[in-house]
Amino acid sequence: MPSTDGNRHKGQEGTDPAEGTDYEEHFHAAASGYLVLTTDGTILDVNQTLASWTGRSRDGLLGGNILDLMPLADQVLFASYAVPQLAVSGCFNEMAADLVSADGERIPVLLSGVRSEDDDDGGHGTGLDRIAVFNASERRLYERELVAALRKAEAAEAARAAAEEEIRQKQKALEEKDRVLQANLLESREREALLESILDAVDVGLLVVDQEGNTLLTNAHLHSNWRRAMGDIPITAKGQTIFGPDRVTPIEPADSPARRAASGESFSDQLVWFGAGEHEMALNVSARPIKTEGSFSGSVLAFSDVSRLVRAVAAQEEFVASVSHELRTPLTSIMGYLDLALDEEGLPPQVTVALQVALRNSERLLALVSDLLSVASGATKMDRRPADLADIVRAGVVSVSPKAGAGRVDLVTEIPASLTADVDPQRLAQVVDNLLSNAVKYSPGGGTVTVRLWQDEQSIRLQVTDTGIGMSEAEQEKVFTKFFRSRRAVASAVPGVGLGLVITKNIVESHGGELSFVSSPGQGSEFTVSLPKVPGTAAGISPAR
Ligand code: ADP
Repeated sequence: MPSTDGNRHKGQEGTDPAEGTDYEEHFHAAASGYLVLTTDGTILDVNQTLASWTGRSRDGLLGGNILDLMPLADQVLFASYAVPQLAVSGCFNEMAADLVSADGERIPVLLSGVRSEDDDDGGHGTGLDRIAVFNASERRLYERELVAALRKAEAAEAARAAAEEEIRQKQKALEEKDRVLQANLLESREREALLESILDAVDVGLLVVDQEGNTLLTNAHLHSNWRRAMGDIPITAKGQTIFGPDRVTPIEPADSPARRAASGESFSDQLVWFGAGEHEMALNVSARPIKTEGSFSGSVLAFSDVSRLVRAVAAQEEFVASVSHELRTPLTSIMGYLDLALDEEGLPPQVTVALQVALRNSERLLALVSDLLSVASGATKMDRRPADLADIVRAGVVSVSPKAGAGRVDLVTEIPASLTADVDPQRLAQVVDNLLSNAVKYSPGGGTVTVRLWQDEQSIRLQVTDTGIGMSEAEQEKVFTKFFRSRRAVASAVPGVGLGLVITKNIVESHGGELSFVSSPGQGSEFTVSLPKVPGTAAGISPAR
């Protein structure tokens, strides 16, 4: 044990060679620091180890107080724990404190102390405190690591709890989704049941096909219709022959309603005939594609049985045709006799006028009968030969001039000197007459009717433009329907029966051409006939526009 007097130790080293140990040297080279204090903390001795830890000289430390080596908090701790322990128990153990080095660095240490009563204490008091100082930086490091590990464990625990919470939330969300799905399923089942009821209640056959034309859904009405038309042949059987509107021309498989629908076509009113004999029936078919998220996924076809209607129309046409035919013969005879009567000389003037009125009305009647016959017979037989269209149009203009004059309608023509085409001249004259007389008739307040004839690279075109009453969009849709007359035409008592345009369209199409029009209510209409140009047609005219 070091003494308070270093010199005395040195002396002992010399005086106790039997020991063979230099305590002073061991004291200073010890791995721990040592302090010898008076009970009031005054440093009587300190070893070199402690002096070096604190970066001070031993001499500088001697005579100072241990409290000077500590920061304030540790000074309080030392005074309130170590000093009473030393006084009461004579020792204290492992007090953790910091020593402050000369350059202000803190050195974590553990202090243990023991008090001995010493008579030979150089008059400093009743005892000496021997304080052992262990460098605790390793331990502090270890503690810090421990704390860090603890923090990590806490963080891991928190993460585990968070993960558990997340799983709980996900589970909850899944349960919610499941509940919504169940509700949706129920709703879609209800809708399906409702849809099925509606499908079976409607008086129309319904068929849903996919892109390959496979049947996805049918309704009861379709089944019963199909069975009526096809006997026991299943509805899905492919290769059934179906016929066009004339009942005899088979429809090519690619043009069948199901195939057209399966290819995504949208159409209305395709008339087809199914079945044979007493089971034969006419179906009117419409189809609309189904779009799922913008892409085509199948089609809905609607079939309505129009057999009775078609048969009724056919019977009506047959009746009209036969009545017209029967009327023609006596009418021709009446007109012949009227002509003969008018040829008589010395007729009183009033008889001549009466006969002329009768003849004019007979002519109108004959024209009407011819129109009825022409419409009832459908396809028009053409007698085509090279004819000068320019002459035909000019003749039409001449014959409509009196009516135009009476209605204060100006006639403007842009007609080439000649334009030869391979046409049926009589039929083409009928086309010109119909279009011109309509243009004049439907300009009740006067106006201008312009007739143009020209040819371009592919076609010969005849155009009749008026500044008359025009037609609404709804009227335009029906303009080629037999017996259709617009409300204004009927209201303003313009004569007509609604057959002229049907016949005109028929004639133009029989020539391989097209009849188109644009019209605007209150502004006028423009009808255009386009006939395909036949090679060898005379050219040399300038287009009207
Ligand atoms: P009609 O003139 O004998 O009534 P059309 O078949 O020639 O029969 O014409 C059918 C209907 O189309 C007419 O009743 C009329 O309402 C309308 N229409 C035809 N041409 C014209 C036109 N140039 N301007 C206005 N409406 C027209």
